[in-house]
Amino acid sequence: MCKETAMFLKEQPVYLGKCEDYTAGEIEALLRDALATLGFEEKVRGEQVVIKPNLVRKMAPELGGTTHPVMLDVLIRLLLEMGAQSVLVAESPGGVYSPGALSSVYTGCGIAAVVKQAGGNLNYDCSYGTLSCPDGEKTKNFQVITPILKARVAINLCKLKSHGMMMLSAGAKNLFGTIPGVMKFEMHARFPDSGDFAGMLADLNAALARERSVLTVCDGIVGMEGNGPTGGNPRRMGVVLVSENPFNLDLAAQQLLSMKEDAPLTAEGIRRGYCPANAQELDFPAYRPEQLAVKDFKMPDTERTSTLQKVLTVHNGRYARFFEPRPKIGRDCRGCLECVRSCPKKTIEVVTDKKGRKRARIVHDGCIKCYCCQELCPFGCVKIEKNPLISLVSRL
Ligand code: SF4
Ligand code: SF4
Repeated sequence: MCKETAMFLKEQPVYLGKCEDYTAGEIEALLRDALATLGFEEKVRGEQVVIKPNLVRKMAPELGGTTHPVMLDVLIRLLLEMGAQSVLVAESPGGVYSPGALSSVYTGCGIAAVVKQAGGNLNYDCSYGTLSCPDGEKTKNFQVITPILKARVAINLCKLKSHGMMMLSAGAKNLFGTIPGVMKFEMHARFPDSGDFAGMLADLNAALARERSVLTVCDGIVGMEGNGPTGGNPRRMGVVLVSENPFNLDLAAQQLLSMKEDAPLTAEGIRRGYCPANAQELDFPAYRPEQLAVKDFKMPDTERTSTLQKVLTVHNGRYARFFEPRPKIGRDCRGCLECVRSCPKKTIEVVTDKKGRKRARIVHDGCIKCYCCQELCPFGCVKIEKNPLISLVSRL
């Protein structure tokens, strides 16, 4: 990221608003105030705005893992009222990126009819192009879905969630969904270490911010805690965060949730100077995180908690793979094979049980602990299993 962009982003305030539920009127008042306070209204006028929601897979909105339809409804109407020429909703969910798969996710997440009624459009164009990233530390270019590539103004409409691999899924992580379909699995295979993966995501965020205005709106009215981003439990938090800098927003979210350590992507943002090291240094024009603190937010089972685990993962990951929590496919596996198709390392095999039913089984030698299988299993059959030695030490 060039110095000017980094400076501009670093100074961006984080608007933290309070909103108890998905009542359209309350959300509208909050977003109207946030966009006016942050001066984003002017950037919208006359533009073809693209909203990038969080539709990781087909899921009912009340589960807290995907963009709530009311957020989209209110945002689209507001953008059009503020003078946007058009509003397009574009996402690349996990799995195949095709018009049929998009249609199924739009309907399954309950947004298809809502977007149309609000006056917006849903993207079915599955082409993509190259986004160059000349200053990238991990990669110099990305393949990105066409609507985002062409957009001059975009809204990164994310959820506030825990995340198995990256600990936090909020602003900066959501933009991973601009990479088309199964190419996301290729990125997991290229960057198996969470620190390297965070570096790649920081490159992506920087490249997207170079030529377009991106406003991040993070829905934490009901988000997800525990084994997010899809296998955790819905958590009512009653907040919405808005900022032009997703790293500032994530830093504020971490404080809101009282996270003990920086998530890998936030740590990378701090290292690169995309955000300050401490949320206290941020500008909050509405509420401050300590005023709306979320108590006892549950982190995923993959969180590195024990001293032993931290020590063992220091040596360039040499021992980390063995001691890190690993995915385990439960007996309730229905043999849909979605995880087999999603595994970046192709380390899930298909077996037939005594009753002749197909089931998935992980060959752990090749597993990079990306937890894509857990994220994309439609039936929640992939659990996280802690290493018994680490569990024992943690209890002592
Ligand atoms: S088995 Fe699961 S966690 Fe392991 S590499 Fe495959 S998708 Fe990732
Ligand atoms: S673990 Fe889940 S995704 Fe994999 S085959 Fe079984 S039901 Fe399907």
